[in-house]
Amino acid sequence: MKYLIAVDMEGVHGVEGVKYTGQSPYYAIAKDSSEYAKAVVSATEEVNTVARALYDNGAEKVFLWDNHGGRDNLYMELVDSRVEKVDPPKEMATRLNFLADIKVDGIIFIGYHSRAGSINGILCHTYNGLEIQYIKIDGKQVGELDIDSMIASTFGVPAIFCASDDVCLKQVKEYDARITTVQTKTGKGRTSAIYRPTEVVLSEIYDGVKKAMANRYQPIERKFPLEFEKRFTKMELAAYFYELNKERFGERLCFGDDANTICATVNDIDELRALV
Ligand SMILES: [Zn+2]
Repeated sequence: MKYLIAVDMEGVHGVEGVKYTGQSPYYAIAKDSSEYAKAVVSATEEVNTVARALYDNGAEKVFLWDNHGGRDNLYMELVDSRVEKVDPPKEMATRLNFLADIKVDGIIFIGYHSRAGSINGILCHTYNGLEIQYIKIDGKQVGELDIDSMIASTFGVPAIFCASDDVCLKQVKEYDARITTVQTKTGKGRTSAIYRPTEVVLSEIYDGVKKAMANRYQPIERKFPLEFEKRFTKMELAAYFYELNKERFGERLCFGDDANTICATVNDIDELRALV
């Protein structure tokens, strides 16, 4: 069996981000911040624990996709040397296409976070937090983990494990209750967390991954067409997005309840990736 560890940064243990002080531009785990440095260490610990659990329990191959921000967040010399890093193009249009080549049996999510607008969701956002207020599919809000899981499902790959804060895990279970979850921290605000002890989190991740490997299932299949809605923080962004996509989508693209919101009927995963 082969597995992919998909790594974002905001959901790892011991990290809550730097608080907003009214100074813009603002990024809660900017690369030069102590919270970013902590996130790198925590993500590395979680990835190495996952890799150990996978190899101890019979995995033949483990791949790593480090997809936070500009990528290359982890120092690979500190990551279990048996793990192979994938380095696909960053474009959303081809996101996760590399699954066709590596043919894994499941995805393990590390460091993922709750979707934009989640109360007490630590560092929650959906892609560009400054521009996107929410994304809905068939009337229900979705986040990055939902969308990555949906894309993976079109390659026949199920999401099997997620470690994150309590708010994100609730959303994960709504997506697919079969996903094994481990709580890294409890959200008390956007940049406020109650931490669980590192050794407890890592030990639960080890046991959880082992459990997830034994619990085999097919991914949830998303039926197309689906109704897509994206609300921008600024009308200008919505108008620009509309202009960019109107030729491809024609009559299927329109404004929603207001000038900040774009709606579309989406016929396949390529169209979905074009719009998120
Ligand atoms: Zn991120």
